[in-house]
Amino acid sequence: MKRTILLSALLLNLIIVFAQSGKELLTLDSYLIPVNKKGAVIGKIVTRQGEKVTLKDASNIFMVNKEGCITLKKNISINEKSPECYQITLQNNGGEKKTFELVKDNFICNKVIAHRGAWKNQDASQNSMKSLERTIELGCEAAEFDVWLSSDNIPVLSHDPSIGGKKVEETTAEELFRIPLKDGDFVPSLEQYLLRIKGQNKTRLVLEVKASQKGKERCKAVADSSVQLVHRLRAQAWVDYITFDFDAAMRIRELDPTANIQYLEADKSLEELKAAKISGIDYHFSHFEKDPELVKKANAQNLKTNVWTVNKEEDMKTYINLGLDYITTDEPELLLKLVEKQ
Ligand code: MG
Repeated sequence: MKRTILLSALLLNLIIVFAQSGKELLTLDSYLIPVNKKGAVIGKIVTRQGEKVTLKDASNIFMVNKEGCITLKKNISINEKSPECYQITLQNNGGEKKTFELVKDNFICNKVIAHRGAWKNQDASQNSMKSLERTIELGCEAAEFDVWLSSDNIPVLSHDPSIGGKKVEETTAEELFRIPLKDGDFVPSLEQYLLRIKGQNKTRLVLEVKASQKGKERCKAVADSSVQLVHRLRAQAWVDYITFDFDAAMRIRELDPTANIQYLEADKSLEELKAAKISGIDYHFSHFEKDPELVKKANAQNLKTNVWTVNKEEDMKTYINLGLDYITTDEPELLLKLVEKQ
């Protein structure tokens, strides 16, 4: 009898885990709290099929308005002295709870995305903790970085499929974390990156889901693990996603209906991307050279624009003038100077 109950409980757990693994996550369409604005609107609650949710807020400064948006209460505003983050919990009719972090919006909007972090002029390795630290210190809008799954399914950082002579996808995370990088760094995990970025509210992350060499399903698994970890660590306010793999982009969208996802491979029309609810394009600069109207066309479809990898001063000036939303570069120090002159 006991064994039957145990087996049933195990089966039920497995069913729950299976059901949750493919489930759209409860989200807000923004997690940022505007500063010095009484009663500011923060973000709309996006529920599964319009389910009702109630708000729990220990700080007692938030409410849900008639349109289903989280806002500050009517006479409440936050200022420079207020805390950087606030936790709220939403609960649905079935008792399911999810806690979010809302973040005071001091985020930098200078377009500068440090490609694999700020490494080139900083004596740091690409995709390292030091390159992330330098990105934050420089005051870039975001650090871009690349995520794979280790052989034991831990999201880890590397640009190439191999690092330190080991194939990332065929090596355990524990072994990967022992691979030395420049200046005392080691191969970092996505979790380390997320925890570090959450220590401040000026610079964000652009998380690239790498196309697995082990096939489509594995690539979707990278997307799953990345999105689940971002949500588990309540880091949604800090993270945008990019990928060359359209199925991975669709998988991110399936899990997170409000995530900012930019597509890297220029093999779909802007209309197709819009229809697939992709948020923007992040293309190699040659595509913007080929079609000088591309930024305008993307803007007309309400798609964000990002360009990589722009390392020459003249090109930087061109893309600043074209009005792209983001410029991804290995030379963030130079781009910062040019952007400041604008
Ligand atoms: Mg990348």
